[in-house]
Amino acid sequence: MRCPFCGSEDSQVKDSRPSDENSAIRRRRICSDCGGRFTTFERVQLRELTVVKRSGRKVLFDRDKLSKSISVAMRKRPIEPERIDRLVLGLVRQLESSGETEITSAEIGELVMAALRGLDPVAYVRFASVYRDFRDTADFHAVLRDLASDTPDPLDLNERFGTPVLDEVATEKKH
Ligand SMILES: [Zn+2]
Repeated sequence: MRCPFCGSEDSQVKDSRPSDENSAIRRRRICSDCGGRFTTFERVQLRELTVVKRSGRKVLFDRDKLSKSISVAMRKRPIEPERIDRLVLGLVRQLESSGETEITSAEIGELVMAALRGLDPVAYVRFASVYRDFRDTADFHAVLRDLASDTPDPLDLNERFGTPVLDEVATEKKH
């Protein structure tokens, strides 16, 4: 494995362990020439996935790129890194098992957005802003409105469950 620091072809494996729920092997390597340390992952490649970009250009699916764009959206959010790893793993499995050999970058974007939406609304909006190339605040408002429409309106709740809970608390306090 070529050293990413000096380009030497000679590196030694210091440590190997299973990773990503046993779907990968993580290897810590050290370069015999410059002493640089780096990590490699060995994974089963179910199929080669080609991504068709908006420009029509085709590139090989890059798991690391997907992972990085999600990590950027998740920056400083209270989500454990393991959950992000699992999210990426789930997305990759979904893509690989879709039966398609080509997928558009738009389809990947929508898949990521659907996954982030359930995990963290802030990351969702951040990802949407990059992915959908927001130009002004109206774009943000549209996504936020869309997010809010998922949460039941308090008025609907009152209608469904009768008297607002606050009234009951107030009554109890009088006794
Ligand atoms: Zn090196």
